[in-house]
Amino acid sequence: MVRFFITENDEIEIDSYDAGTTLADLAAELEAFRETAPHLKTGKCKGCGECCSDNIPVLGLDFAVLGIDPGALVSGPAALGPGPGHASGNIVVLPDKPDMGFRRKAIREMCGWTSISELEATLLFEYNNAEPLTLARQASGACCFLRDGLCSRYTRRPYSCGLYLCNMGKRLAYIQEMIVRQGTWHAYYKLGWISGEDIPHNPFLRADSYDKLLAADFDFDLGNTSEQLFFYF
Ligand code: SF4
Ligand code: SF4
Repeated sequence: MVRFFITENDEIEIDSYDAGTTLADLAAELEAFRETAPHLKTGKCKGCGECCSDNIPVLGLDFAVLGIDPGALVSGPAALGPGPGHASGNIVVLPDKPDMGFRRKAIREMCGWTSISELEATLLFEYNNAEPLTLARQASGACCFLRDGLCSRYTRRPYSCGLYLCNMGKRLAYIQEMIVRQGTWHAYYKLGWISGEDIPHNPFLRADSYDKLLAADFDFDLGNTSEQLFFYF
């Protein structure tokens, strides 16, 4: 069970959630809540689709959702299987490989220059350095799956499509960003760019689907580190 509310700025914000809330629950309950707020723009999501022209992150677990072999992705174009309304072609755009030497140095320096823990430094680094894989776009700039203003892959779309709102409150946006950042580093792992030992804290290593991962595992409390790191970044 997740409890949302509308802020005074007409944003959808998360109030609290039960300990057993999974990532799948979080997205499903957000979807249900925004349907109860028809006065908000998000009450008509299916008719808008503006955010489908943004860069849409593809997380490590989305490879299975989209039917992509990550091994084939790094060696050639990711081809869509046969399906109505789709032609084969590239559907995922890869970022540059992460520079692991730079990562190790930055985390070491953060720990040396501040009193934050190695885990906190690692999470902060990953939050600030996670160039996502993204869905390819059509010439119009819209997502490759958008057809006549509607998602043609609605039941098999990337996780972040279901959790994104253009009017999220701060706390909900923070949790969403953490999921995307950790999911991006997990995608690097699935691509074979990094090893599991590089990201032992990453919750995505512990499960193979969004209904087996707890939202609480991504709700890291980094509040105590922000002041020290303000000067670092
Ligand atoms: S979340 Fe996206 S589809 Fe929904 S109202 Fe905002 S821009 Fe439109
Ligand atoms: S997969 Fe669907 S919901 Fe996600 S950006 Fe593309 S068209 Fe929009």
